[in-house]
Order: sequence, then structure tokens, then C-alpha cells
Amino acid sequence: MQEVPSEADVLVIGTGAAGLSAAVAFAKAGFSVVVLGGAEARGMGRTVALFEASLRFYDALGLWPRLASCAAKIEAIRMIDATGSRIPIPPLEFAASEIALPAFGENIENDKLVERLIDIAAETGNLSLGREWLTGIAYETDRVCAMFDSGRQVRAKLLVAADGHKSTVRAKARIGARRWTYPQMALTVLTAHEKPHHGTSVEFHTRNGPCTLVPLPASGSEPHRSSIVWLMSAQEAARRKSLADASLAAEIEHEVGAIFGQMRLDGGCGGFPMTGLRVSRLTGRRIALIGEAAHVFPPLAAQGLNLGLRDIAALVDCVETARTHGEDIGGERAMATYAEARRADISLRTHGIDVLNRSLLVDFLPVDLVRGAGFLAFNMIGPLRRAIMREGILPRGHLPPLMQKPRSFPKAEGLRRGADKDRRTV
Ligand SMILES: Cc1cc2nc3c(=O)[nH]c(=O)nc-3n(C[C@H](O)[C@H](O)[C@H](O)COP(=O)(O)OP(=O)(O)OC[C@H]3O[C@@H](n4cnc5c(N)ncnc54)[C@H](O)[C@@H]3O)c2cc1C
Repeated sequence: MQEVPSEADVLVIGTGAAGLSAAVAFAKAGFSVVVLGGAEARGMGRTVALFEASLRFYDALGLWPRLASCAAKIEAIRMIDATGSRIPIPPLEFAASEIALPAFGENIENDKLVERLIDIAAETGNLSLGREWLTGIAYETDRVCAMFDSGRQVRAKLLVAADGHKSTVRAKARIGARRWTYPQMALTVLTAHEKPHHGTSVEFHTRNGPCTLVPLPASGSEPHRSSIVWLMSAQEAARRKSLADASLAAEIEHEVGAIFGQMRLDGGCGGFPMTGLRVSRLTGRRIALIGEAAHVFPPLAAQGLNLGLRDIAALVDCVETARTHGEDIGGERAMATYAEARRADISLRTHGIDVLNRSLLVDFLPVDLVRGAGFLAFNMIGPLRRAIMREGILPRGHLPPLMQKPRSFPKAEGLRRGADKDRRTV
């Protein structure tokens, strides 16, 4: 850890994936940055699927080559209805080749992503990193002053709150947050299995929520690995977490119809209560909220960190624009531009995921009919399929500059346009 200065252009609170990514992005844009945060819970078996816009973001910052070696490509997504719905709902399969991409995105262990971002942050010029807990904030004429448990104070023109769903910054800045809960926990596990995943993520939709397998890269002597995110009641999650590894692996194998053959646990196991959170404002005086400090929803469709990275790319753009025009980088105009830039995207994802999750939980024929019709339409109407796929990975509307530049792919990954016919099926 470097010596932490008492003044910076940008102070980032939180050393999770969002805070570290923001700190590196601001430092690379030429701002002096301090990032301070508490320690992460590790070994929770959690991964994040990062989609094309997020990969472009890391690529534009020159970070993707450092992260790619611990990530696995997601080339296809298969959704299987296992709700026992009274109307038959056909399986849905999307292939990245249908929208001329070699993959929808890449799946990476959360611990490895954070570990590597810490290494990168430690090597980045203009950036100081430390482990401290924020306890309070105060204002001076043209600065915000943050106080820490060590007694340290850091002053900055802009404070970026990346301190997660229980954000202290948000509370201290008196920014309201509406929180709600779902009757579900996500059980997260890393597994090794007998058969290859062929780059396919498989999502089983059950009445408790989805159980999803997401590809992971080979590791050590394990060539075939996937992460599991399995939504269930809190009681079931507690029971399953207390099982011996072999028994839990057997229950997972049963839930997913043994599509990848025999399964073993290959790392830690975590449990996450499913909640949602909306903030009343995305900004305060000299404060911008990003990541889970700004929005929380269940991990359906793997949108959380992807949305958080779009917050960061938009915030960097607004702050750079303010600097270019000789304006205050933490001033009202920069904060208002950021809030406006993020409003629609955050609102769409929070509502969309909420509706999708609740539609699975309800055993009610009309809801099943609507969901079934949706699945059928996605299966049969090519332009709709492609629009949905693009919206999930490269959202419509204005992408901030850090996400605009298409990545170049090695020839071997050649884009297979209109390759519906050679879609892999697991
Ligand atoms: C089961 C599950 C699966 C998911 N899968 C995906 C996926 O596939 N794709 C995807 O995009 N998203 C996914 N998500 C969402 C994604 O994991 C989160 O959006 C992301 O991890 C949030 O990162 P963050 O940095 O905003 O918050 P956090 O990771 O919570 O980090 C907050 C940081 O702030 C620090 N902190 C807190 N309070 C203070 C304080 N007072 N002072 C200093 N530091 C403080 C903490 O120590 C921590 O370091 C998933 C989430 C879950 C639960």
C-alpha cells in the first residue's frame, strides 16, 4: 500500500470491483486519486459475468489482458423452464454468433477480479490505495472532507461512493434509499464437472428462482469448471450450506439434470440474501454514487456489476468534460449531468429484473402465459432475439467513450455471422 496523501482530485470509498475500477479509470484519465475501503469477504464462490460493454471498458483502460487469463468466454446462453408451468414453455438458446460476436462476455471469479484490480491499482500512477473505514464526511468551501476510523482525513473535489449496498457515504450525505427483499437467497458455489461446458451458460428457471451454471476456465487438474448461482428459500440455503461437499454437489447435479455429468465442489460456498435497492438521488454535494451504493437487484441476467461499470464510464466522462470546460469537477453541473446520464439505464434494469424475478415466483396461469409467450416470441422472431441479446450486453442509447471502441478479436475467434445452425447445444 502506498503512502496516502491528505488531498486528491477524486476520493473513492470502497475497494470492491466498482471502487477499484473507478479509481483506476480516474487515475488513467489524469486525476489524482485516493481509494480507501474495508476488507472484502473472500471465498464465497461468487463470480461475475462481464458483458461486451464492460469488456470494452477494461480494454480501453488497458486492463483486460491482465484479467482475461482467469476468465472464461460465454458463447451461448440456454434457458430452460423448470417451473412446472401448466403451459409448456420451450427452451431458449441464444448464441453470441447471432449478433456477430465471438462471446456475450466473460465469467470471472469475484475474488480474482478484485485481487487483480488491487495489483493494478497498486501499480497505477496518480493513485494511492489503503484499507480504512469511512466514518464521516464534512464540507469545506470547495472540498469534501472524509474522516476514517484511523483518524485520517482526506480532502477531495469529488467523492465517489463505491461502498456497497449499505453505503455509509449515502447515509452520511442523507441520500434516501428504498430497500426491499425477496423470499430468496442465492447460494453460490464453484464446481468442477465431468463434461465440458462448451462455453454455454445454462439457466434453469424454477419456482424458487433460477439455478444458473456459468462457464469458468480450467484450473490446475480440473479441465471443466462452472460457477453456480442457485436461488432458493433461506431455509433451503441454510440446509444446503450445512451439507458435506459431496452431498451438496449431488444436489446441484440433480437440480441441473446432470447435464455436465458428475460434479464436485471446487472452492468456497456463499449465501446472499436477495434484495433490491433504489436511491432517491444518485448524487449529493460533491458526491456521486456508483455500483451497489446506487442500485441493487437479484443476479438474474448478470447485470449488477455491468451496470456499475457503466456508472463509472459515464461518471469519468462527465468529470472529464467538466475539467475540459474549466469547471469544478465535483460541482453541481457535473453531478447533474452524471445523474441524468444514468437515470434511464438504472431504472430499466432495476424494474426489468424485479418483474422477471417475481414472474418466476408466482404460480399463476396468466403470468405463466405471458412468460411462455415471451419465450416463444424470443425463439421465433429473429430481430426480437437479436435486440434482446444486444440490450443485455451492449445497451441501446449513448455509451460513454470508455465503452464505445469495439474490441479487436484474434482471427481464430472469427465472427460467425448468422451461425444459428451451428449453435452448440449441451
Ligand atoms: C450471487 C451474485 C451473483 C452476481 N453475479 C453477477 C454477474 O454475473 N454479473 C454482474 O455484473 N453482477 C453480478 N452480481 C452483482 C455484483 O456482484 C455486484 O454488483 C458487485 O460485486 C458490486 O460491487 P461494488 O464494488 O459496488 O460493491 P461491493 O463489492 O459490496 O464493495 C463495497 C466495498 O465497500 C467497502 N466499504 C463498505 N463500507 C465502507 C466504509 N464505511 N468505508 C470504507 N469502505 C467501505 C467494502 O469493504 C467493499 O470493499 C452478482 C451478485 C450476487 C450477489
